[in-house]
Amino acid sequence: MDASDLIAMSKPARGEAGRTGDWRSARPVVDASACIAATQDRVTCQICWAHCPDACIEQGAPPAVDLEFCKGCGICADVCPAHAIAMVPEAEHGVCEAAEGGTR
Ligand code: SF4
Ligand code: SF4
Repeated sequence: MDASDLIAMSKPARGEAGRTGDWRSARPVVDASACIAATQDRVTCQICWAHCPDACIEQGAPPAVDLEFCKGCGICADVCPAHAIAMVPEAEHGVCEAAEGGTR
């Protein structure tokens, strides 16, 4: 047994559980005027990226969410220290992106 056998943590991977974007009832919307990375115009903070269980946030200023795989769990919104992420119900977007061949 080597050290790697003792590590119990798992590493999430984008798309590992299929197209989890189909599960979503609300989507994370980043307010760039509040996001620490965006206001500093550099890739800092990224706490949302570090906590997403589906690895569907791309680092950036601000970070970007891949809606094809975001399942809408809301963890990114909960951990954001600037309260820059709001979970917005899909119904409020008023557009069925799947029907339009969009990002879901
Ligand atoms: S956790 Fe919040 S403040 Fe930090 S990069 Fe993500 S959206 Fe911006
Ligand atoms: S809501 Fe946020 S943490 Fe949850 S899957 Fe989507 S991007 Fe990741």
